[in-house]
Amino acid sequence: MMKCLGCYKETGANYCTPCRRALFDAIKIGSVLGFNAPAANNISVFQQYSKQLSISGVQLKYSLHLEGNQLALTDKAGQ
Ligand SMILES: [Zn+2]
Repeated sequence: MMKCLGCYKETGANYCTPCRRALFDAIKIGSVLGFNAPAANNISVFQQYSKQLSISGVQLKYSLHLEGNQLALTDKAGQ
């Protein structure tokens, strides 16, 4: 059994059904992102995607949206 990436309950998939429904409109989504994590050599790319976010807190945050069943960086219409 694996743990749901949303709530850490035991599940047979990356996300349990309630999390998949709540987060991704029930779309089955991969657990591997199609882009690299922020690092010194690509941080400027990420900054383009965080300009319009207004979520408070210390962690870096970026806008993502669904492209098919993949999460992708976006500069508008983040989900
Ligand atoms: Zn879950």
